[in-house]
Amino acid sequence: MSLPHELIPTPRFLMGPGPSDVHPRVLRAMATPLIGHLDPQFLVIMDEVKRMLQATFQTTNEMTLAVSATGSAGMETCFVNLLQPGDEALVCVNGVFGNRMADIVGRCGAKLHRVDAPWGSPIDPQQVEDALRECKPKLVALVHAETSTGVLQPLTDISRIVHEAGALLLVDAVTSLGGTDVRVDDWGIDAVFSGTQKCLSAPPGLSPVSFSPRAVAAMDARKTKVQSWYLDMRMVRNYWGEQRTYHHTAPISLMYALHEALRIILTEELEARFARHRRNHELLRDGLEELGFTLVVEPPYRLPMLNTAWIPESLADAPTRRRLLDEYNIEIGAGLGEFAGKVWRIGLMGCSSTENHVHMLLSALKRIMRPT
Ligand SMILES: *Cc1c(COP(=O)(O)O)cnc(C)c1O
Repeated sequence: MSLPHELIPTPRFLMGPGPSDVHPRVLRAMATPLIGHLDPQFLVIMDEVKRMLQATFQTTNEMTLAVSATGSAGMETCFVNLLQPGDEALVCVNGVFGNRMADIVGRCGAKLHRVDAPWGSPIDPQQVEDALRECKPKLVALVHAETSTGVLQPLTDISRIVHEAGALLLVDAVTSLGGTDVRVDDWGIDAVFSGTQKCLSAPPGLSPVSFSPRAVAAMDARKTKVQSWYLDMRMVRNYWGEQRTYHHTAPISLMYALHEALRIILTEELEARFARHRRNHELLRDGLEELGFTLVVEPPYRLPMLNTAWIPESLADAPTRRRLLDEYNIEIGAGLGEFAGKVWRIGLMGCSSTENHVHMLLSALKRIMRPT
């Protein structure tokens, strides 16, 4: 047989909903020679990753680690460890990822209650308060940064309401972590998961998670085994903890990548990083509005790292995105679900949040829209 050519895809500028551009230092870290995943040197690396994740999540939670799979596995980890068959859960849905959480609740054998808000709007705390008068769930779940709609969900009021009802607060921070404030301790978040390929700007494949002591107590009080062997935190925590009991082989190169990505984040410092994401979002917003785009989300709830804009009538959706890719090597995201064909999703995540990225995309769009 004749072998395929060596893989050399044309480099792209990643301005979609993830993955984002990865810093060369992170790529270099991935080329570091492998060591064993129980090598004492690797255990130091895991401890450092844990400490840097705690700093990034702004938490002192002891149970903070990276699940060996993408963000959706972090989502599944939170639910399967906290819910037992017959438990009740309230899920807030205003986009694709809220729906995914609702799906997982059903697969855990738990009873699902849901609160819905229109796509492009946040969940109103009053809705949660009203729902909690009708049911008494073990946990309430919602998405901090809904990547399908571009909505940033305020969490402080909802957190208070959820805890007054005696429930745990479970938050999807896949897109927000590393791009905007995620104050796990201050906001009373009990279970949180993220992903590496959004604002952390590492390759996909790991899902940072963190559990409050309250959530850990709920896991310890379980009477039934977690339905997933791979995601069972009772075993995974022993691999990340003092015992270092073998559970599965850590994806070593990805851990090198996350280690370097977190070093870059904490060197930049969280506040400066969040300010950079806000600045570049504003620059993009101004440029898009000048070109005749309207943003989907009301100003107070706009995500700085994921911009959703209605596609003007004059522009064909797929062919224009294809031209951006073929002629300019720029990837942006299509609309998902209800927003398919109507909305573009433009990511400015982590290393992709630069003035250069913004100017490049705006110039390309200008040339496509106003050829002269
Ligand atoms: C990307 C994303 C996920 C899923 O993460 P994967 O890494 O694709 O599995 C979950 N929630 C949100 C909000 C996301 O943006």
